[in-house]
Amino acid sequence: MNLNGKAKEQMSYDAIVIGSGISGGWAAKELCEKGLKTLVLERGRMVKHITDYPTAMANPWDLPHRNRMPDTFEAANPVATKCYALDEATQQYFVKDAEHPYIQEKPFDWIRGYQVGGKSLIWARQTQRWSDYEFVAPARDGFAVDWPIRYADLAPWYSRVEKFVGISGNKDGIDSLPDGEFLPPFELNCVEKHIQTAVKTNYADRHVIIGRCAHLTKPQPIHLQQGRGQCQARHLCYRGCPFGGYFSSNSATLPWAAKTGNLTIRPDSVVHSIIYNEQKGKATGVRVIDAHTKQTTEYFAKIIFVNAACLNSNLVLLNSTSKRFPNGLGNDNGLLGRYVAFHNYRGSLTASFEGYEDQYFYGRRPTTAFMPSFRNVKKQETDFQRGYMVAFSASRAGWGRGNGQEGFGAEFKESLLTPGDWSVYMMMQAETVPKYENHVRLSADQKDPWGIPQLITSVGYDDNDIKILKDFLVQGAEMLDKSGCKNIASYDDNRNPGLDIHEMGGVRMGKDPKTSLLNKWNQFHNVKNVFVTDGACMTSVGNQNPSITFMALTARAANYAAAELKKGKL
Ligand SMILES: Cc1cc2nc3c(=O)[nH]c(=O)nc-3n(C[C@H](O)[C@H](O)[C@H](O)COP(=O)(O)OP(=O)(O)OC[C@H]3O[C@@H](n4cnc5c(N)ncnc54)[C@H](O)[C@@H]3O)c2cc1C
Repeated sequence: MNLNGKAKEQMSYDAIVIGSGISGGWAAKELCEKGLKTLVLERGRMVKHITDYPTAMANPWDLPHRNRMPDTFEAANPVATKCYALDEATQQYFVKDAEHPYIQEKPFDWIRGYQVGGKSLIWARQTQRWSDYEFVAPARDGFAVDWPIRYADLAPWYSRVEKFVGISGNKDGIDSLPDGEFLPPFELNCVEKHIQTAVKTNYADRHVIIGRCAHLTKPQPIHLQQGRGQCQARHLCYRGCPFGGYFSSNSATLPWAAKTGNLTIRPDSVVHSIIYNEQKGKATGVRVIDAHTKQTTEYFAKIIFVNAACLNSNLVLLNSTSKRFPNGLGNDNGLLGRYVAFHNYRGSLTASFEGYEDQYFYGRRPTTAFMPSFRNVKKQETDFQRGYMVAFSASRAGWGRGNGQEGFGAEFKESLLTPGDWSVYMMMQAETVPKYENHVRLSADQKDPWGIPQLITSVGYDDNDIKILKDFLVQGAEMLDKSGCKNIASYDDNRNPGLDIHEMGGVRMGKDPKTSLLNKWNQFHNVKNVFVTDGACMTSVGNQNPSITFMALTARAANYAAAELKKGKL
C-alpha cells in the first residue's frame, strides 16, 4: 500500500465519482455545484476539449488509410471493430480488445471508451425521455420488479438536464414519448416526410418524428457560458467536436464542475474496489491502481458515486468484498450482476424510392427519423412482451454518401456530382426483458493486467427477442410498402448482445431490499453512502436511447445525496 507519504486528510474528499463519462460528468457537475469537494477517478487518459481531438478537422486524405482501419487492426480487434463508429479518425477513443480482456461465456460485444469523457465522446446523441408506460411496465407485465419511481419523479430532472445539455427536437405531443425542453429541431427530408404522411394515413397509433438529439441547433446563454457553439451539421461528431456542437462530458459537465473550484480529476486511476468499514457500517473510500505504475492508493470520501458504465460498475461492486459483504458490496440478496438487459438491434430493412428526383437535402444531419414504440404500449396486445422504436432515414446516393464508391477519371467524378436514387434504411431498437440468467460475474482465476478479476458475460437472447424481431421485420416492410417504397429487403444480422452499447442492469433499483440493490434514490439499501446512477441501476430498459435517463437519474440522486450529507445523514 502506497499512501505517497500524504496524510489521510490530503487523500480525503466530500465525494468520489468513479468514471468521468456521461453519468459521472453529471454527478461531478451537480456535486461540485452543491459545494462538495469532489474527486473524479477515471481509468483512462486525459482528453481535453478541443486540444485533444487530433482528427476533428482532418480530411480523408489527411489520414494514412483514408479513414479505414488496416486489416491487421481489424484482425486484432474483432469486437471493437464491429462498432460502426470506429474508424481511423475515431479509433483513439475505443478500447482495444487485447488490452482489456473479458470472458464471453455467451457472445457479448462489449464496446468501451476508456478516457476522460468515456463514451460521451463517441455516442450517437439520440435522447428520448421515458414515459410512464416504461416505468409501470414491469409491474403491469409481471417481469423484473416494480420501479420505485415514476415519470413524475424524473420529469423535472429531465428538464434540468435537457436545458444544460441542449436537446434539439420537436414538441410532438405523443404521450408515450414526452416532450422536453427543446432547441429547434432538425428537419425530415422530402422522402421521410412522404413516409411520415403515409404512416399517419394508414395507422392511427404510429407517429414519425425527427430524432431528438443532444445538438445545439440554437445555443442558449447557458451553452455559450459553457463555451459551446452551434452544431455545424458536419456529422464528424465521433472525432470530438471542437465547436462543442454536441454534448460530451469533456465540453460541458466537467469544465462546468471545474469552474466551481471543487473538482479534482485523476485520469489513469483504475478503481479496484470500494472500501467498506465494518465499524462505521458504511463505505469510506476506494482503492485505486495507477494505470501505468500499477501502484495502489486509497482515497476517502463521505459519499461515493459509481459511474463506471453498467458492466464496469457491476465489476467494481462485485470486486468490493469485505467480511460484511463477501459477495460484493451491498449484495445481501445475491442479485448483484443479475438481470442484465440490453436493446435488440438485430433487424433492419432497406428499400428504394422512386420520385422526388428534383429534391435534395442540405448538410449532414446528425440525427434521423424515429417512431416511438407502437407495440403493447397501453396494454398487452401481441404474443411477445414489450415493444420497439423504429429509426429510419432516406438519402440519395452520390458524393458525400460515396465513401465506399470506387473509380477514377472524369466519368467517375461526374457521376459523383449527380445525386443518385433515393433509398431508405430502417432499423429497430427493441426492449429486452431482464432475466435472472442474464448476468455478469467475476472470474475466479483470470485477472486483467491490473490484477483485477476479469468480468464474465453471460447474456443472451430469448424467444421473446426473436418474436419481437420478426414483428418488426413484418411491420417495417408493411409501412415501407404502404409508403410506396420498392425493392424492400429485410435482414436479421444476428448480432451479439452488447453491440447495441445500451447494456443496463445488474444493480437494479426497487422497493424491496430482498429483490433489488438500490432504493428510489439510487442509493444502496444497505450501504447508504454509495450511489449507482449509470445504466447498472436500471430495473428495466425501455425502448428509448438510455443516456438521457442516466443523466436525469444522476442529477436527481446527486442533489439528494448532497442534501442528506448536509443534514448529517450520510
Ligand atoms: C457508438 C455509440 C453510439 C451511442 N449512441 C447512443 C445514443 O444515441 N443515445 C444514447 O442514449 N446512448 C448512446 N450510446 C451509449 C452511451 O454512450 C452510454 O449509454 C453512456 O456513455 C453511458 O454513460 P456512463 O457514464 O454510464 O458510461 P461512459 O460514458 O462509458 O463512462 C464510464 C467511464 O468510467 C470509466 N471507468 C470504467 N471503469 C473504471 C474503473 N474501474 N475505474 C475508473 N474509471 C472507470 C471509463 O473509462 C469511462 O470513462 C452510444 C454509445 C456508443 C459507443
